[in-house]
Order: sequence, then C-alpha cells, then structure tokens
Amino acid sequence: MTPIQALQKYFGYSEFRHQQGAIIQHVLDKKDVLALMPTGGGKSLCYQLPAVLLDGLTIVISPLIALMKDQVDSLNVNGIPAAFLNSAQNPDEQQRLMGKLRNNEIKLLYLAPERLFGSENKLVEFLKSLPVVQIAIDEAHCISHWGHDFRPEYLMLAGLKDYFPNIPVIALTATADKLTQKDILEKLNLKNPAIFISSFNRENINYTVAPKKNSFNQLLDFLEERKEESGIIYCLSRKSTEALAADLKEEGYSAEAYHAGLNNAIKARNQEAFLRDDVKIIVATIAFGMGINKSNVRYVVHMDLPKNIEGYYQETGRAGRDGLPSDAILYYSPGDAMKLKGFAKVEDNEEQSRIMLKKLDDMVNYCQLQTCRRHFLLKYFDEESDATCGSCDVCLTEFERFDGTLIAQKALSAVYRLKERFGSNYVIDFLRGSKSEKIREEHKQLKTYGVGADISKPDWQRYLRELSAMGYLQVDGGEYPVLKLTHQSEAVLKGLQKVEFIAAETVEEKHTTVEALPFEVDLLTELKNVRRDIAMHENVPAYVILSDATLVEIAT
Ligand code: ADP
Ligand code: MG
Repeated sequence: MTPIQALQKYFGYSEFRHQQGAIIQHVLDKKDVLALMPTGGGKSLCYQLPAVLLDGLTIVISPLIALMKDQVDSLNVNGIPAAFLNSAQNPDEQQRLMGKLRNNEIKLLYLAPERLFGSENKLVEFLKSLPVVQIAIDEAHCISHWGHDFRPEYLMLAGLKDYFPNIPVIALTATADKLTQKDILEKLNLKNPAIFISSFNRENINYTVAPKKNSFNQLLDFLEERKEESGIIYCLSRKSTEALAADLKEEGYSAEAYHAGLNNAIKARNQEAFLRDDVKIIVATIAFGMGINKSNVRYVVHMDLPKNIEGYYQETGRAGRDGLPSDAILYYSPGDAMKLKGFAKVEDNEEQSRIMLKKLDDMVNYCQLQTCRRHFLLKYFDEESDATCGSCDVCLTEFERFDGTLIAQKALSAVYRLKERFGSNYVIDFLRGSKSEKIREEHKQLKTYGVGADISKPDWQRYLRELSAMGYLQVDGGEYPVLKLTHQSEAVLKGLQKVEFIAAETVEEKHTTVEALPFEVDLLTELKNVRRDIAMHENVPAYVILSDATLVEIAT
C-alpha cells in the first residue's frame, strides 16, 4: 500500500496537508525527523500513517493522559490497533496489554516519558525486545528549558537512542524557535535529522496590542459585541483568573476559571462546558489549552504580558481553528515587563536567566512594534512574509511619518564611534552630550559626542527602538545588552538609504504608557528587594525607578 492509499483507506482524507507527505517518506526511509507544524496542522498523521504501513510497533511519547486517550480512541475507531499505558490501569489490564504487545497485536503504544524510563527501565527493556519500528515524540518542545512548557520528565528521553540506536525518531512540535529546535535535536540525540517547518502564518487571526490602562473596562468594551462568541482570556496568576471570571459573571457573561490549582473535577467540568459551548469564556492561566481542539474560539485575550513569543503564539493559535476571522488582543504595560523580569532571574543558573530575559525582551519588542506584528511573529520563527499584513493594529493605523535620515545617521554613528560596546542609555547620554564627568572625559574628543542634544531622551529612546524594529540596529546580549550595527546600517551612514520615523503625535496616541526600553532597567538587582516588599504589603502598589527617572508601577 502506498502512503496516499493508506491515507484514504485508514483516515479518509484525499491528500496530504503541509509537508505531511515528505515527513512520512523520511520516516519510512528510516531517517530521524523534526517536524514543526502549527497546532491543528496534522502532526499526528505524520507518525500514525507510517505506523500503519510499517511492520512492527510504534512508540508514541505524549505528555498528557487526556491527549493519549483521545488519540487511541480515534485510531481504534479507524480500525488501527492502538493502546496507551498509564498509571490509572490496574495490574490485570497492564498484563493483558503486555500480552498483546508480545503477540504484535498493537500498532501504536502511547506512553508518558516517565513510564518508559520509570521503575528501573523495566518497560523500556521489555519494549526493546519487541520489533519497534518508529518512535514518535509529540510536543517535543517539552524537552527544552528554552521552550515554553518544559517538563523535566522529558529529559529522560535523552536515553532513547541508547536503547533504540537504529530506529527512526520523529519529534513533533507546534512551537519551537531556533534555540529550542537546536535543544530538541541535541537532547534527543537525533542522527542527521531532517527538519520540516510548515508555514506558521494564521491568516485569519488579527493581532492587536493595546496599552493597558484599565484593563477590565477595556476588556468589557472588547466583549460588548461578542456576547455570543467563545473566547479564552489568559491571565498571569491563578488568583486573577478566578477574580476576573467572577467579575465577568457579575457583568452577565458566561465565564469560568481554569488553572492548575483547581481540583481535577472542577477543571474537567469547566473545560467540558467550554468545549460544549455551555460556557462562552474561559479565564485561564497558561495551564489551559494543550490538546484542546475547539474550532470556534473567536478571540484570545492576554490580560498580562506573556513570558515569551513561543508561548504567546501558541496561545493565540487556539483562536480560529475553523478558519474564520478571529482576534488576538494583548493588553500591555511596561510594569508587566518589569515584573516578569524579576521572575526570569533563576537562582544559580546564569545561562537560563539570560535566555529567559532575552525571550522576554523579544516579547516586549513585539508589544512596542511600529511595524507589522504578523511579519515580526513569522520572522521570529524564521519565516519570510510581506512587510505588512494589512490586518494587525499597526498595519491598520495610519502613522504620519517624516524624513529622519539625519537623526538615524547620528544614532548609528554614535553606536559605531562607541565601538558597539554600550546599551541604549549610554548611547543616548553620549548623543545628548551628557554632563556626566565619566562619559564626557572618556568621549568628548569623538566627533559624534553631543550632536543629538536637541532631541529629548524619550524621543531618542523611541528612535532607537524604531531603528532596531526597522533592522538598522540590533540589540545584542542578555542582561546588559549592547547596541550593534547591522548589515543594513552602512547604507544609511553613507546616505544611500533614507529613513523615516513616525511623527511623535501619532505614536503617543497609541503608546501612551510605553516609556522605557526593556533593557534600560538597571535596577534589576534591587527589584528583588522590591518584590519582597510587595509580599509583605499585599495591597500597596510598588514602584521602581528606571534609570531615566520614569516610575514604573509593579502590579501585585
Ligand atoms: P496537531 O497535532 O498538529 O495539532 P492533529 O494531528 O490533531 O493536529 O490534526 C488536526 C486535525 O486535522 C485532525 O482532525 C486530523 O484528523 C486532521 N487532518 C490531519 N491530516 C489531514 C489531512 N491530510 N487532510 C485533512 N485533515 C487532516
Ligand atoms: Mg498534536
């Protein structure tokens, strides 16, 4: 049987979607594969179809018991013998399953990683004695600290290749940036893996970031015309999901909360009610969503800043599975970024802190964009796209622009003169001819020193931000990032490339609360103490002072 015949016979579909066909061919050729495909793209088929065609057992690693059960049920309905093994099964059931496995009566066996390598590797030893033909790792990003949903149990999978050195491994995920991809390949020890990346563009989702002012009222305005529609509202804390669900109910909305701290019965009830459309709104922490297949989610709202783009994109991707127009709204305040910065500091692990801070900076940059949001998101996942999508809030805003080539040249030449060794605050002080003894003494002989004194500090911050959004500058490094030139900078410096900035009035309208670049906060260490204060006085708003003397409130 050819793959396409099996597709029709067992799954009832007439053609492959995305790169399914090529991925399946690789597995059939016994090659390792990493497949990135958006949620709902059809990842399962990439290992289920080879499992049907190959003579032997496919082991599927999956993180959630609920996901396994759904998949096994639907495979069995299609006449494909599949089973899962979990701790809820009694010894009799487990023995019966072992018997079936020994007799080659099972094509796909679903397991959690800790099962496979638990109890002194008993199970993996047993499976090694069977004709295993394929190993599939679903939600493979769970193996990486840098992914957005790290699960320590997944690290056990590092031992897979020792047990099954010649069996093709197919790792699948809907969410992995470059770094996470690399980490997956390394941790799983894949051999010359082929990497397949399908388009992540979700054309029917419209992205909007709004400055967070009074987010509850903003949310009510947004929901006003969506009373009959289903949506997911993400909050950072468990407490706020419950509070917001209660507030929404009071306003007459049908809403329930969901977070990992609720007991299982309540979680199951709220999730079921949402899936059946009995409840319209689920107010959740990021614990909600994996494996949830609801097609008519019309909007996903983020009340707080997500920690990284991977998580954010995954969460917004739960809107509009049916292809109909849907909204992704994020309420952004710089205070949220400050708060998350504090959390991103991992004790005793500098590398991890650095990476988490970098990912948070990317998230903040997304919020502060004055260029197309979709383009930025796709570029983040290394996908080429048009510079403007025409449907995100930035594309829909008419910005008035002016010729800022000279300003850009001053900024870029300052970065150049300072040998790309300093962050934006320092560069701005230099441009404005700072009175600071240290800066003056060190640099006053340089030509660019003080050439930007006529421009205010906040304006310079904005220009630098736009220059990096346009690709003329880049921010390099984690905790103490420095500004660097890019391959596009030279044309501006030589006067071959004009640069336009957005006129201040139009920006201010859109970004009233955006005052400081995320990487300009140099009081990070003190932030920890501030947070300790918050814990002691729960209801007192806390502030930190940024280096440019703006005050940022830290929400508690
Ligand atoms: P993912 O794991 O990538 O989120 P799934 O594997 O759960 O996605 O597939 C999502 C849906 O798409 C399922 O209902 C599946 O049956 C369907 N599907 C998969 N491949 C095809 C195809 N080639 N043609 C039509 N539908 C498909
Ligand atoms: Mg899946």
